[in-house]
Amino acid sequence: GGGVQMLNVDKIYPGATNKALDNFNLEINPGEMVVLLGGSGCGKSTALRSLAGLEDIQAGRILVGGQDVTGVPVNKRNMAMVFQAYSLFPHMTALQNVEFGLEIRGMGKTERRKQAMEKLELVGLADQAGKYTQQMSGGQQQRVALARALAVNPRVLLLDEPLSALDAKVRVQLRDEIRRIQLEAGTTTVFVTHDQEEALTVADRIGVMNHGCIEQIADPQTLYRRP
Ligand code: ADP
Ligand code: ADP
Repeated sequence: GGGVQMLNVDKIYPGATNKALDNFNLEINPGEMVVLLGGSGCGKSTALRSLAGLEDIQAGRILVGGQDVTGVPVNKRNMAMVFQAYSLFPHMTALQNVEFGLEIRGMGKTERRKQAMEKLELVGLADQAGKYTQQMSGGQQQRVALARALAVNPRVLLLDEPLSALDAKVRVQLRDEIRRIQLEAGTTTVFVTHDQEEALTVADRIGVMNHGCIEQIADPQTLYRRP
């Protein structure tokens, strides 16, 4: 995937008094996984949603692969997002869920089945392709959501607290899996979490957010090295 630049971005929600993003700056290298880490309300989701094009911004510029996408609508940015939970169609099978995004992009049946199965294999669910997602565990559902996101070959993958709704054991297992899958896919990724442990496990670099901007950004070892 391409790199990402968010330059001097301000976001103010209608009627709000504070800036949700306040001179926010972030540069991501192609193929890199950057974690945005911080407590509730610091602007992590807003940064992700602004990058995706789900929020308009009041100042600054956003570039992907060197191309200015500021103001480009969400469906033209070729990004894919995974949310905390409940983002799948429960009455569809895993395969149908993954194929759905390819179908609305106009891909033919044979090709989309092939691509969808490839991604289900990547997340370790090839043998569950025909199962309805409402019958799957939370961890399995998040794997399907990840497969669906990757199936469209997004330029950037956006993960918004993808593990937060899972119980501790599954969370630990799936965070290692997500990192493996991301490395294998080579997709430029932004991962939002409030969990430091999680950040340390998956990140190439961690951006620590506070009050709408990144206070510090570095690789995990540099950031948490003891003096
Ligand atoms: P985080 O993801 O770190 O919890 P958010 O990006 O959700 O933070 O929120 C950043 C700030 O913007 C918070 O003060 C939050 O209350 C505010 N905010 C988020 N979404 C909206 C919205 N739709 N309307 C108004 N304010 C919002
Ligand atoms: P997160 O911390 O994961 O962003 P929140 O609970 O802060 O989740 O927000 C959940 C939803 O509520 C989001 O869609 C967000 O945009 C919206 N929201 C958050 N804060 C506000 C706010 N102050 N006013 C209006 N909507 C808000």
